Amino acid sequence: MSIADNLARIHDRITAAAQVTGREPDSVRLVAVSKTRPAADVISAFQAGQTVFGENYIQELVPKLTEVPHPVDWHVIGHLQSNKVKYIAGQVALIHSVDRISLAEEINRQWGTLGKVCDILIQVNISGEATKSGTTTEDALRLIHQCARLPHVSVTGLMTMPPFFDDPEAARPCFATLRRLAETVTDEAIAGVAMNELSMGMSGDFEVAIQEGATLVRIGTAIFGER
Ligand SMILES: *Cc1c(COP(=O)(O)O)cnc(C)c1O
Repeated sequence: MSIADNLARIHDRITAAAQVTGREPDSVRLVAVSKTRPAADVISAFQAGQTVFGENYIQELVPKLTEVPHPVDWHVIGHLQSNKVKYIAGQVALIHSVDRISLAEEINRQWGTLGKVCDILIQVNISGEATKSGTTTEDALRLIHQCARLPHVSVTGLMTMPPFFDDPEAARPCFATLRRLAETVTDEAIAGVAMNELSMGMSGDFEVAIQEGATLVRIGTAIFGER
């Protein structure tokens, strides 16, 4: 199966999953996770119509910024060290993985030097797994209030990564909890904060995530093959 074939299948599955719950398929955006994949694979996907790509590692993303000569939107989806932010300032459309105020402050500083605003999501560790990044559910609201004071950062939603389960249904409670947390944040009506995006769902569980309200699904293996 080619990357183009895989993308077509994923789009069919996104559409079907959206329709189960009466959502518009257009309300779900596909983030093609190209970590460990060469720029040539990103270009193949772009030629098949894919424009949003997710990367985990800054040292891998930076070369691709120039190796991929097309107008793609890069998203950072992995754990981000503050000292790496300067390498991507102004060059990524969304950072999904903000889980601490020190990181948000560094993003604010770097985007501020360019006179720009960086859209960010707050990563929440719903399951409480020790190995996962992300703020706790309890701390998320406080972090969002702190981020709201940073002029060069705009919180546009939440992200989560549930534990790996063989059965995607097992992840459903995590997705539902993230959606409810977004509703709680919306109820706080924090100036400058919008809960437009729920980044949740990967190759193994994206249909369940869409049924629970995902607006961004992050899919690697099902597009590019096993890593
Ligand atoms: C690797 C990765 C994905 C994609 O996972 P697949 O199972 O390959 O679809 C999604 N989100 C994050 C944060 C990842 O690190």
